[in-house]
Amino acid sequence: MHIDLTGKRALVTGSTRGIGRAIADQLAACGADVAIVGRDKTKAEAVAAEIPRAKGFGCDVTVPAEIETLIADVEAGLGGIDILVNNAGITRDNLMLRMKNDDWDAVIDANLRSAFIAIRAASRGMMKKRFGRIINITSVVGLMGNKGQANYAASKAGLVGLTKSVAKELGSRNILCNAVAPGFIETDMTAAMTPEAREALIRNIPLERLGQTRDVAGAVAWLASDLAAYVTGQVIVIDGGLAA
Ligand code: NDP
Repeated sequence: MHIDLTGKRALVTGSTRGIGRAIADQLAACGADVAIVGRDKTKAEAVAAEIPRAKGFGCDVTVPAEIETLIADVEAGLGGIDILVNNAGITRDNLMLRMKNDDWDAVIDANLRSAFIAIRAASRGMMKKRFGRIINITSVVGLMGNKGQANYAASKAGLVGLTKSVAKELGSRNILCNAVAPGFIETDMTAAMTPEAREALIRNIPLERLGQTRDVAGAVAWLASDLAAYVTGQVIVIDGGLAA
């Protein structure tokens, strides 16, 4: 059985580039209609123009009212939301002792509060249809912790608790909620690493390479599909064995 998402409507936050873009490409390749989302609507529309059956939407996920509007606009634009992928995320790294309150709040709002608000808004339509697939992009850092990333690790660990709670609250309505935890993936987010840091990291990865965005996208497509119909409340780690 191959992954067939024909007729499904998917919203992927932060899908103008990086992992989110790869997820959008993969879901579209499996037949889904996809909402591309970034802060700049024009950029999101330009990306959507490159993907079959995609539409672009602008939304800053740190602003709660914009998320509510996004969900309503995507429901109107695509005719509903069957698959919600909470992928948009940021880092504001610093050692914990030097971390400013603003750095803490910005990362929690962008990575964790945004997912809660999107899930709360999108799950209403999913409950009516008795179908929904919610996939939150967390990180191995949320499971392992990381020096210099107390805010980011806390936001990603928070997503795990959110995922498991939503799975329990909405399971009876056939809404599945899972998380995908990538290790270190080649994107803008990891491009700033020094060559030395990259070498040291690779020494700890059994598969001896950083991941590619498509490595994450495959797991998301599987979780969104009927092949994963009995999977909920789980965290799928895609890290080349780093956390093993
Ligand atoms: P990138 O920095 O490459 O891309 C981030 C995406 O999020 C962009 O599409 C950006 O769109 C969007 N975005 C950022 N801030 C906002 C905002 N306030 N509102 C709406 N959209 C926003 O990140 P990655 O692809 O590397 O990461 C994607 C997810 O995967 C994140 O949640 C990250 O934490 C997670 N992850 C990444 C790992 C990695 O190694 N790269 C490892 C583990 C997890 P735009 O600029 O157009 O607004």
